[in-house]
Amino acid sequence: MEQLSLGRADVTRTALLAVLGGHGPMSRAELARQLDVSPATVGQVTRALIQHGLLEERDFGPSTGGRPGRLLALSGSAGRAIGVKVSLDVLTAVEMRLDGEVLRSAVDPFDATSPEALARLAIYLSGFMEEGGQVGQEGAPLLGVGVCVPGVVGRPDAGIADVASFGWSGAPVGRYLRGALGVPVLVENGVKALAFSELLYGQGRQRSNFAVLTVGRGVGFAVVSNREVQRGVTGAAGEIAHVIVARNGPLCGCGGRGCLESFAGNEGLLRAARSAGVLSEGEGTDRLAELATAGDPAALEVYHRAATVLGEFIAGPVTAFDPELVVIAGEGSSAWRHWSQSFRRSLRRHLPVGWHDVPVVVSSWLDSSWAQGAAAMVLATPLSGRRGVAGRQRSQVLARLHKIREITS
Ligand SMILES: [Zn+2]
Repeated sequence: MEQLSLGRADVTRTALLAVLGGHGPMSRAELARQLDVSPATVGQVTRALIQHGLLEERDFGPSTGGRPGRLLALSGSAGRAIGVKVSLDVLTAVEMRLDGEVLRSAVDPFDATSPEALARLAIYLSGFMEEGGQVGQEGAPLLGVGVCVPGVVGRPDAGIADVASFGWSGAPVGRYLRGALGVPVLVENGVKALAFSELLYGQGRQRSNFAVLTVGRGVGFAVVSNREVQRGVTGAAGEIAHVIVARNGPLCGCGGRGCLESFAGNEGLLRAARSAGVLSEGEGTDRLAELATAGDPAALEVYHRAATVLGEFIAGPVTAFDPELVVIAGEGSSAWRHWSQSFRRSLRRHLPVGWHDVPVVVSSWLDSSWAQGAAAMVLATPLSGRRGVAGRQRSQVLARLHKIREITS
């Protein structure tokens, strides 16, 4: 078998994996066109990748010449990753294959504010990893663990997290988990992690520029520009929740007043619904959505007001980044139909005159979607080249993917 090492040929291999990861199954001829290399080079590189189980051939029926055409696709069994979403009181974990298939998931109670939170997270992940093994049933190697948190992470490969709601300041999540688990670990803000799963498996698959807007407990925003998730200088790009939209507005969980989240986050919806007499104490956003679905005008008005504030605010970032579309996600997205019309109207009214229509689409949402994003961040590593978020973890992820221990680059 031809040896897969990470020399110059790796550039073409990585580019080829990236094209297939981005566009889905493709013929050799189309790959040569996309990569702007000769068909002979594509033939040579794909032969090695097939031998190593990273690619597989699929029939797509007879071509015009009568011979069945063959498409190349990423092999799901080439690699797996574990993703975990750390919330204040719960851990959600998934194991996912390179082709996006979720192999298993789990939800368990957790206390993120505990002084032993990192140690308990490591024990939990170690148990979850053991169930899947280092090499899965199909022979797929575990490429690493992705962790997402509702906070700011300076660099995913270093994995130092600030999460105000957990009381984490400079928490060494990445270093601690790498030491305890012995696998590559990437840590990221939840909304940016979600952008990876949209990029690889969701609405962003065929697109280079899009934005992700999340609603739910918090309000989040992430931008993908030229197929890269934008992080900014400190990793805080997109942290729009606590931008002040109304001076002396309602008190926010962060201690400030009039933050975007105090209008469009769950707490904001609940406060507005209670003061309008729509909900009583103890009733939550589920009840608010029920009432809106039943056509209750006061409940619909609560969504209308929140959506109007959000649409107005988002016009700024949309103009700054000019995305092809805005993807709506987050646990609150199941009620998006109550936001949709007012949000679009408000967004359109606040965009510059003549600005092109920006489609707004709702992502399919599952309780495990955040954790899938965390796993997708690891699975994106072989597909995203040297400028991806994996940084110093990249060579170790690739070593696991290529099933070789020593790398000479
Ligand atoms: Zn705030």
